[in-house]
Amino acid sequence: MVLCPVIQKLVSKRVVLASASPRRQEILNCAGLRFEVVPSRFKETLDKASFAMPYEYAMETAKQKALEVANRMNVKDFRSPDVVIGADTIVTVDGLILEKPVDKRDAYNMLSRDKAGGYGIQALGGMLVEYVHGDFLNVVGFPLNHFCKKLMELYYPPPKDAIHHVKHDSIPSVETFEVLSDEECGSSNSTQQNATRTSKLGDGATGSLGKKEIGQHMLREPMVKCSGDLENLTKFPSTLLELLDGFKASKAMFVACKLKVFDLLKGKAILKAKDVADHINASVCGTERLLDSCTALELLKKTNQGYSNTELADKYLVSDSEYSLHGYIMHANDHVWPLFTHLESAVKEGKNQNHRAFGKKAQDLFQDSYYHSMETKLRFMNAMHSIIKLTARDVATAFDLSRFRSACDLGGCTGALAQVLIQEYPNLKVTVFDLPNVIENVACFQPTGQDTSRITFTSGDFFKDNIPEADLYILSRVLHDWPDDKIDALLSRISDVCTPGCALLVAEIVLGEEKIDPPRAVLQSLSMTEGKQRSSSEYKQLLEKYGFTQVQTKITGNFLDAILGFKKTTHIVN
Ligand code: SAM
Repeated sequence: MVLCPVIQKLVSKRVVLASASPRRQEILNCAGLRFEVVPSRFKETLDKASFAMPYEYAMETAKQKALEVANRMNVKDFRSPDVVIGADTIVTVDGLILEKPVDKRDAYNMLSRDKAGGYGIQALGGMLVEYVHGDFLNVVGFPLNHFCKKLMELYYPPPKDAIHHVKHDSIPSVETFEVLSDEECGSSNSTQQNATRTSKLGDGATGSLGKKEIGQHMLREPMVKCSGDLENLTKFPSTLLELLDGFKASKAMFVACKLKVFDLLKGKAILKAKDVADHINASVCGTERLLDSCTALELLKKTNQGYSNTELADKYLVSDSEYSLHGYIMHANDHVWPLFTHLESAVKEGKNQNHRAFGKKAQDLFQDSYYHSMETKLRFMNAMHSIIKLTARDVATAFDLSRFRSACDLGGCTGALAQVLIQEYPNLKVTVFDLPNVIENVACFQPTGQDTSRITFTSGDFFKDNIPEADLYILSRVLHDWPDDKIDALLSRISDVCTPGCALLVAEIVLGEEKIDPPRAVLQSLSMTEGKQRSSSEYKQLLEKYGFTQVQTKITGNFLDAILGFKKTTHIVN
């Protein structure tokens, strides 16, 4: 196998290693791979007894680590990774999986008992090893050879008739073990220490053998498949290709949603292009192109019988599904898209382009832009409702809020967050506070069959009217909309009504400290010259300025993150 060409296949790809193990990084670096490190948060708690063979446990853990990172990045990032590499290491003795040594003493005990694990073969631990059966790099931390063979299968698939199905009964086993933590580098120091301690054991440490089995799992995201075919023909950088074509993909999905294609194909429905065209009152050739595009984007499936929804489309794109994003997509199509066509002017002038996109200057973002007609208002409320429905639980549980008895969700719109808050906290009552013309339209967003008696809707303007009393104030996706003087007015008013010990919960996309990620948040602010997105330290500073203390941020891994601060106790000094 020639190594370089297959590694080169990944040059223009976004490759992510779902592990913080320095050994794995070193091996992949030496092989010339460029990758980002995003340690997996998957807890290694799979039931070992449920796997027939120890290697199956390692494979499943590796897969879950990669999946956790891929899913998290899919939600967080504008550009999903192309390849996510997950790996896991276990030690087995006589078919029994040994746990990783938790500290030096544990490693010592492990070595004293059965002489496997707890040291690094590439360092002094190597003195303990008489021979290795299998891939040496597998023992060090990553089976590079096996990895490259898997890449070859992905990028140079053999002709169909040359495929043989091989039964994998075991990954090659070897005889030593080093802790390969997927946690941050702090724990890798203890690995080094373990290895040093191990080496002092000298001859006593060699002898009966443990088996080390490494599972690795790679995930390819759907977009690679689209660009993969082209890439075989040309050297066009796939990153740029995705950016070049990204708007076409967005618009294809927007139009299919607007024409209710996914509603038509809901559930098990399978229809030919002509039938879809008849239903949506469109040309057959245009419809066929749209359906094929949606199939390529993995929103639809195509068979001889016709087109049908993928699970993704059924769950999120059908307009009346429980977690439908249809409302948000329509807002993106009808409001955000026209604004972005004037991005050049927005950049040059540093102003919101409402007047160019909609022929109306937006003095007030909500009254003049989102709420200037019943149609735009309901569209906006639908959009907010669909986003918050998918993120509310993570926001509501980011911190333990059980100490609070009353909450006021300022700019709480349809009350979608309130609905989840009362489910999570049985002793909590929530007031949803929003503009009068929003509150008068909330009825159609209330769930049927759920007791909502602990939710009250109150209309008012949070810049002018009395803010209801509460132990906990919530600002979900409010602060990023406003310029500094408005934020000053709003936070001063909240601070004034908030008594010591009460708290403010903010839900926003929190930027990294460099303020360039996640791209989704940075790109959103391009069209909104009034407000801005902030990093965790900026939110801390902001909340502290208005008398909140113990400010903590929780990155949820979902669309919105959460920040909580407590109103300072004021000490009266005589
Ligand atoms: N909190 C909801 C969420 O997370 O989905 C809605 C966020 S939306 C971006 C901002 C909300 O603030 C809208 O519902 C809007 O009507 C409300 N809002 C804007 N200006 C307001 C004001 N002056 N007083 C009260 N609510 C206001």
